[in-house]
Amino acid sequence: MSDTPLRLLNRVFGYPAFRGEQEAIIDTVTAGGDALVLMPTGGGKSLCYQIPALLREGCAVVVSPLIALMQDQVAALKELGIAAAFLNSSLDGAAAMQVERDFAEGRLKLLYVAPERLLTPRFQALLDGARVSLFAIDEAHCVSQWGHDFRPEYLGLSALHERFPAVPRIALTATADAATRAEILARLDLGDARVFVSSFDRPNIRYRIVEKTDPRAQLLGFLAGHRGEAGIVYCSTRKKVEETAAALAAAGYTALAYHGGMDNATRARHQQRFLRDDGVVMVATIAFGMGIDKPDVRFVAHLDLPRSVEGYYQETGRAGRDGAPAEAWMAWGLQDVVTQRRFIDESESDDAHKRIGHAKLDALVGLAEAASCRRVALLAYFGEASAPCGNCDVCLDPPTLWDGTEAAQKLLSTVYRTGQRFGAGHVIDVLLGKRTEKVGKFGHADLSVFGIGAGQPDKVWRAVLRQLVMRGLLEVDHAAYGALKLTAAARPVLKGEETVMLRAIAAAPSRRKSRLASSSGAGVHDDEDPLFLALRAWRRETANEKGVPAYVILHDATLREIAARRPATLAELGEIPGLGTKKLEAYGEDVLAVVAER
Ligand code: ADP
Ligand code: ZN
Repeated sequence: MSDTPLRLLNRVFGYPAFRGEQEAIIDTVTAGGDALVLMPTGGGKSLCYQIPALLREGCAVVVSPLIALMQDQVAALKELGIAAAFLNSSLDGAAAMQVERDFAEGRLKLLYVAPERLLTPRFQALLDGARVSLFAIDEAHCVSQWGHDFRPEYLGLSALHERFPAVPRIALTATADAATRAEILARLDLGDARVFVSSFDRPNIRYRIVEKTDPRAQLLGFLAGHRGEAGIVYCSTRKKVEETAAALAAAGYTALAYHGGMDNATRARHQQRFLRDDGVVMVATIAFGMGIDKPDVRFVAHLDLPRSVEGYYQETGRAGRDGAPAEAWMAWGLQDVVTQRRFIDESESDDAHKRIGHAKLDALVGLAEAASCRRVALLAYFGEASAPCGNCDVCLDPPTLWDGTEAAQKLLSTVYRTGQRFGAGHVIDVLLGKRTEKVGKFGHADLSVFGIGAGQPDKVWRAVLRQLVMRGLLEVDHAAYGALKLTAAARPVLKGEETVMLRAIAAAPSRRKSRLASSSGAGVHDDEDPLFLALRAWRRETANEKGVPAYVILHDATLREIAARRPATLAELGEIPGLGTKKLEAYGEDVLAVVAER
């Protein structure tokens, strides 16, 4: 019986069906065609070259820039009974030579190599003598000179096509924009490739963006719904990383820090623990994350605003690769925006880059301020139309809006009448009619605007002011010590030509909390299920014995399903997604024994 992609998926990988475009991609490459695959993180890119590698004669050469990842990927393939190996600088000479021999003598189905090694004369000679089934170029956006992940060696990969014109190539990336796509096609000489663009939606991720009031307490509140789960907390500075990690540890979480200022050994150890142990919270700067393909990250929290929608999408995308419910939570405030604007203005880059920096930040602020579905706004940024998702904070708990036109006019007038020279504190004092020393000194009690805002409390005015800055009606002039100035966008509001709808300040947090917590999804797993916990303990032990990450043995989703179905026979167990023939053989009896004990 000849193998089809679907049979391999069932038997080897233990999954019942392909996702999205996987099958079409696999068919294209298996038939010898080139492909460019754009799929979000967690979409299932690896299978798109692993199954053709199994179906075609020879060995697939997988180019990946992420050395740390290769080892775990190869371990996972070996668990499935697939002859796979990697070649990178972490191997000693003898081990590398053994891999080269296995490759040359046709004993491998997949070989992972770092790009710099692939291009060496030694490896090129090896390629000439071997039978290569396909080239897979992972993280293909590394070829883009404008992206953050540019790797000069990737430019050399176009040579593969010249030397091995008959070997199909598949390039894969999770970078969505059209410019990068065009650059990949051109630079890798993939003119004839079929392009497969998947939806960039990650439906299992719930997006929540809250106003920063007491970030530490807010974070602890959020984490309370994720006890025992693995997740990442991003902070903008090293100092904040350290402090937050310490605070979480004090609150009983297994929290580790990760940032560029730590020594390499500690960093590597923390990363390893995050990957291998269950339920570690990594508190990190954005130095952490590239190449982390841990499937069961249940949440990503941001304590500071990222720099762009791309960054937000990439960072939050590290949650829920396994498709199970996950949460992306962010706390942000006006101060974030002010700090970032100053950072952009004071950077060394030229005016064009500064303009781009501000525009990118504006887009993210727009997303954070959105009074309609977050997901719709997020996907729209990547050019994808969608309908309200029902799985973000706005959909689940729509904000209350009020007509703030008059309030906006009062505030803008006060900024104008006081000469556009003062910061928020003084402007609000004038609005409220407070006779402060500064008010006296500048004679502001005589202005027509003095006290016109006395009907509303201070905190409402702060909220109005913040929203006007966010929407670009007011700007903060750093050069003038934070003075507020009107922008052109303020004019139609002052003239009464435009209404301003504002978000009400969160009044009843208790109602908000209960709505979000009671709706189904992340954070409400029945982790207390003793069978699930017992399975997890068994997996931990098995993974430790083998020295591989726990998820390489079996995924959480598979353990949950086992706990729910309580299979009594190998046949019943084999029905559960995530258990292929090899794993059934290796672990079936053990798992049934754990089930029978409970
Ligand atoms: P990517 O590289 O696109 O981020 P992966 O290839 O690592 O994603 O796949 C993400 C997760 O989805 C993995 O745990 C993988 O086993 C799982 N997966 C991939 N394809 C399928 C499928 N057809 N059915 C079930 N799970 C799948
Ligand atoms: Zn939504």
